[in-house]
Amino acid sequence: MGLGPQAALAQARATPAAQLPSLGDGSSMTTSAERRLGERIAREIYRDPDYIDDPVLVEYVQSIWQPLLNAARQRGELTEELDQRFAWEVLMGADRTINAFALPGGYLGLHLGLLGVVTSPDELASVLGHELSHVTQRHISRMMESQSKAMPWMIGAMILGVLAASKSPDAANAMVVGGQAAAVQNQLNFSRDMEREADRIGYGVMTQAGFDPIGFVSMFEKLQQASRIGDNGSLPYLRTHPLTTERIADMQSRQALDARPVHAPPSALHAMMAARARVLGNPGIDMLRAWVAEAKAVHPTGPAVDVRSIAVLYAGALSALHQRDFAMARNLVVRLQALTTTDPALARISRLLAAEIEWGAGDVPATAALLDLQAPGRPELVLGSQVRTRMGQATDAIARLQPWVALHPRDGTAWQLLAAAYTAQDQTLRAIRAEAEAQVARLDYAGAMDRFRAAQDYVRKPPPGSGPVDDIEASIIDTRTRQIQALLKEQALDKANN
Ligand SMILES: [Zn+2]
Repeated sequence: MGLGPQAALAQARATPAAQLPSLGDGSSMTTSAERRLGERIAREIYRDPDYIDDPVLVEYVQSIWQPLLNAARQRGELTEELDQRFAWEVLMGADRTINAFALPGGYLGLHLGLLGVVTSPDELASVLGHELSHVTQRHISRMMESQSKAMPWMIGAMILGVLAASKSPDAANAMVVGGQAAAVQNQLNFSRDMEREADRIGYGVMTQAGFDPIGFVSMFEKLQQASRIGDNGSLPYLRTHPLTTERIADMQSRQALDARPVHAPPSALHAMMAARARVLGNPGIDMLRAWVAEAKAVHPTGPAVDVRSIAVLYAGALSALHQRDFAMARNLVVRLQALTTTDPALARISRLLAAEIEWGAGDVPATAALLDLQAPGRPELVLGSQVRTRMGQATDAIARLQPWVALHPRDGTAWQLLAAAYTAQDQTLRAIRAEAEAQVARLDYAGAMDRFRAAQDYVRKPPPGSGPVDDIEASIIDTRTRQIQALLKEQALDKANN
């Protein structure tokens, strides 16, 4: 998580409207202007039905993303100013296309399709490190400079258009739109030099963060293979990152330096996460059926950790859950749990899936029995809060959620869960404020104002029999209303000026 609303507000205020950069005169984009453009794009992504906040996958991606950020800080690539000003958030899309992209303002997009094909955390780190370096090297602001005639809102619209077109709801449609997208994309692509710089710096960042350089090499090979097959339809990443001869030559010289075998040992945790990404990435009913069939037929080998069987059972159990075949899902997850008992990290992920299956089947006590409600992880927090609220233990849910949102004010999902817990307790005013904060977290300031106004109305005219209004809560609501109003005004000015 990055800046909280207060910090974001302070930052927005740091650049009065009068100092807004004009892209037309060839000056480069300031960090605040780039952040605001990024927020405009991120707001649309949050609204996209494909945007997915899957706590298990988010936690996994963060376990790779945070070390990369730290390494970039240590190396001085991520300066203090950029660290403060940009969001540094990875937004995931439930899309089976293989894509990852840097957006203005420190937002990164990651399609589940890419997560589903990388075979190690090191490969994922190489992609994220590359995209991270596009941002820290200010490639986006430099690209905007070269597009000086285009207004920021146009660039924002173009980026959103390319993103929409890069998805593939159905193949034929995607091909038609793909052609148009390619035309627009040519104007938005990073230069070859920028790509090589992102390779070089990304490589330094990922290796300093402790990831195996082999991941960089094998990811390159994977892309090379895909480009030979010519499957660019499902690989928008290749369109934005063409494998030029220079990039390949650079890669080969790095590979020679390392001179190690190209395949890292498979990690069972990664294999489970990739399986989850494949199932959640909108694969279609036929794929779900095929994964269940594959899992039914799997025969685990020997006493050692059997990565393939673990991944196949994980995908099968989750696919069965998505088909609402709970008996099958339970059957497969029990077999998965039997294979993962010896490793605590794997056992936890299997148990979380078992809990998810019981929750899907509507068995709340069974879900609670499987969840470690005291565990510090976000997956336990998210599912655990819902379980507790459903079981009439909203007080316990609130006791965990309140300190969490204080630490992670941009966790929209947690704010929503807090709103539900307050609602269950008939704490209407607090519920409305939590709903408003959930909108702020998703950068929807207009939606947030709507809820804050509703809260102010409630304070002025509490419904009969609702008891006295909490003065502290009322004053927080007034302060937040003013702050969000200011953010909305900034947005309006942005639009008018650009
Ligand atoms: Zn790139």
